[in-house]
Amino acid sequence: MTAWCKTACAAFLNPEFYQPFLSTVLEASENIKNMKNFFDEATDLVCEKCGSPMVKKLGRFGFFLACSNFPDCRNTKSISLGVCPKCGGDITLKRSKKGREFYGCSKYPNCDFVSWDKPIEEKCQKCGSTMVEKIGKDKKVIHKCLNESCANEEVVEEQEA
Ligand SMILES: [Zn+2]
Ligand SMILES: [Zn+2]
Ligand SMILES: [Zn+2]
Repeated sequence: MTAWCKTACAAFLNPEFYQPFLSTVLEASENIKNMKNFFDEATDLVCEKCGSPMVKKLGRFGFFLACSNFPDCRNTKSISLGVCPKCGGDITLKRSKKGREFYGCSKYPNCDFVSWDKPIEEKCQKCGSTMVEKIGKDKKVIHKCLNESCANEEVVEEQEA
C-alpha cells in the first residue's frame, strides 16, 4: 500500500471527513430535484404584478419571461426584440397558425404591426429606431430602418472568406 493510499483511505474511512462531504452531496441532489427551473436565466426585470424578479425561460415558442414567484404568480411576458414603429410597443417573436415565425407588436390586436424580417440589436444611426435584417436582391444582407419616414438602409459588407 502506497503512502498516498494510506492517507487517502484513512481520510475516506474517517467519518469526520466524509460525513460533511456526504451531506453536501445529498443537499446538492436535493437542490437539483427542487430546481426544475435550473436553466432559467435571471434578468434585471421586475414583475409588475408582484415585484419579484422575472426569469428567462425556454418555452414551446422560444424564450419568454416568467415571474420567479411561479406558481403563486403566473405573470409571463414576451421578450422585446425591438420597438414597434407604429405605437412604441415591444416587437416580439410570434408564430402563425401555420407555424411560420414572424415578428409582431405586443399590443396586438390594438396595433397591427407585423414583419417577416428579424429585428436586430443595432439601432438606426439616423433616427435610433429598430432595424431589421433583410436579404436583398443580390443576396446581400441589408439592415433596414423600420421608421418609414427615415427609410435608412445599410448594405452589410460581405464577409470575405
Ligand atoms: Zn409576479
Ligand atoms: Zn405596435
Ligand atoms: Zn432610421
